[in-house]
Amino acid sequence: MSYLANIANGLLTISIIFTGASCLQAQDTTSFPEIPRIDVHTHVADDLHAISNYHKVREILKQNHGVEMAMWINLGDRNKPINSYNEVIKAGLGRILCCISDYSAHDGLKYAPNELPTWLERGYVGYKIWAGPPHRRLKPGQEGYPYIDDPAHEPTFAKMEKIGMVCASIHIADPHGPWGNRTEWLPDSVEYWKEITAWRHVLEKHPDLVVVSAHGMWSLCQDGQIDYLRNMLATFPRLNIDLAATFQYFPFVTRENLRSFMIEYADRILFGTDVGRWTDPTETSQYARRYFRCFQILETDRVTKGGFFGQNEIKGLALPKDVLEKIYYKNAMRIYPGVRQSLQQLGYSIE
Ligand SMILES: [Zn+2]
Repeated sequence: MSYLANIANGLLTISIIFTGASCLQAQDTTSFPEIPRIDVHTHVADDLHAISNYHKVREILKQNHGVEMAMWINLGDRNKPINSYNEVIKAGLGRILCCISDYSAHDGLKYAPNELPTWLERGYVGYKIWAGPPHRRLKPGQEGYPYIDDPAHEPTFAKMEKIGMVCASIHIADPHGPWGNRTEWLPDSVEYWKEITAWRHVLEKHPDLVVVSAHGMWSLCQDGQIDYLRNMLATFPRLNIDLAATFQYFPFVTRENLRSFMIEYADRILFGTDVGRWTDPTETSQYARRYFRCFQILETDRVTKGGFFGQNEIKGLALPKDVLEKIYYKNAMRIYPGVRQSLQQLGYSIE
């Protein structure tokens, strides 16, 4: 038996490592305890009980894994918009920033362009739009639907571009990949590319719109998609992506291709999970574990079973420290208003 001491943020934690049959393995502790992490894609909404669960996840990550989970960007939820902003901010203890949200863009966007500046002034840090494949949302008898480049959406994107409102974790397609006929996802490749192309049209019209495209723009599921994503990022300098709910698909692409992509575009990739809400307190430690699996995949070259979702075996990417810093917090600090200030108020020493 040996002892390993980690000193992070003034807290001394002692992890006991047993050789042989063990209760805690050495790999259960991050090698980067000093890097704060921000999850930019969460759906805690204004559920105060769920917010307290997030704080518990943070405590577990710190105690068990030496991980500094610093903040969350709250995108609301399809069924639960953030109505109690002040309560959420208070319960978040400086660690939660909120976005306004619209989860049915196909019915017309919820917020009028001229009211967007007011939401920014109130402290919301972005506008989350869900405009994924509406074949799952069509009402019986309804045919056809507007794509994200529909002219009706134009005034909103123009206003956001003008006032610098972040297009936060916008969802514009569902994953299309080589995993058979999982009908809940997007099996039709033509439909998939129509949606991606419609999104391209929006970015062409609004080159100054600051965007975080959710789920890697759902373009991390095949090597060819990653090539297209490289092209999009090279073409549109204000386009960024989050990694929410993408980890379980990493085995479907070539590890070296994904790794070189992450390094090449480290300035444009943000950590995210798509974590939601839960009420059962026994689930809290599982959520901490799911977070840590994602961190292991990015930080080590070990095989991890499952990302935030799924149970696929994934060989880690062992990304360099400077890349991890950008993905974990520096890009979020650059893109969203209030992140830098919040990190400083929380006592993190950041550049
Ligand atoms: Zn989401």
